[in-house]
Amino acid sequence: MTAQLIDGKAIAQQVREEVAAEVGRRAAAGKRQPVLATVLVGDRPDSVSYVTSKGKACQELGMGSVSRHLPGDATQADLEAAVRALNADPAVSGILVQLPLPAHLDEERVLSLINIEKDVDGFSPVNIGRLAQKGREPLFVPCTPYGCIYLLEQVGVKIEGANAVVLGRSNIVGMPAALLLIGRNATVTVCHSRTRDLPAVCRQADILVAAIGRTEMVRGDWIKPGAAVIDVGINSVPDATRKSGHRLVGDVNFDEAKEVAGWITPVPGGVGPMTIAMLMRNTLRAAQMQDPA
Ligand code: NDP
Repeated sequence: MTAQLIDGKAIAQQVREEVAAEVGRRAAAGKRQPVLATVLVGDRPDSVSYVTSKGKACQELGMGSVSRHLPGDATQADLEAAVRALNADPAVSGILVQLPLPAHLDEERVLSLINIEKDVDGFSPVNIGRLAQKGREPLFVPCTPYGCIYLLEQVGVKIEGANAVVLGRSNIVGMPAALLLIGRNATVTVCHSRTRDLPAVCRQADILVAAIGRTEMVRGDWIKPGAAVIDVGINSVPDATRKSGHRLVGDVNFDEAKEVAGWITPVPGGVGPMTIAMLMRNTLRAAQMQDPA
């Protein structure tokens, strides 16, 4: 292996410890505890598990959490009423609406409703708009892309002037990751399902962020020697040797890529743990803005 492994688990733990320490300092100073409110509609097992992990993380870091669980057939009005109530509740620092919502609900309208000072997921149009504009700062940066950039910065990858290629243009990962890299003065190419000759584009990348949800699609010979490879993908593949019968792999073929890259994130244990760590950081930040020290 030539690549340096980027240990997302350890870096996320360090972020969590910093957040917990600051939460403790605020409590000692008599400040309000940061509180994260999650809104879940329906019972998708992955969404239930994400919301549960977020609540657990709050507890571990000394923060409060409240959860609003609406039935899968909840109406748009029910969901909007839940968000409005959380907007109006001074005890709630941050609000996260777990995505994806059931198809009958209007995601854009719901995300627009969240008070931007409580938009700890960073998905409200105002926060994303600010991220996209030169010289403007969003109040909150979306957690997974924020985690990707944080990992690069922690291991000392130079972003300014680098050729960065982002695979994927989703609202929650690819596009905000590209905007963050542009904001840090990388030259960014965003690829998607209609991009021609993906391997050739990837070979230009000093920084490659893969967020396509395609099992190990990025091969070792797509990678420029020495590049930093951030693998956001989480794909489940059958594995009879595991008790669960499956294992998680990324969008990058790790075994091939680690022989070529300069830095690489593993899956699991790379970007995954960063998402919740950055959510905790954003929730603390919300509390700090609403109730400054
Ligand atoms: P989406 O399905 O919303 O977006 C996938 C993107 O990849 C789209 O832009 C799509 O292009 C592009 N794409 C799909 N297939 C190809 C292909 N063959 N060649 C080139 N581009 C392609 O996914 P998400 O952004 O939500 O998630 C991406 C991955 O990241 C998933 O594996 C997901 O599980 C993981 N993830 C991990 C998180 C974490 O905490 N680590 C958090 C969120 C997601 P087009 O726009 O043309 O359709």
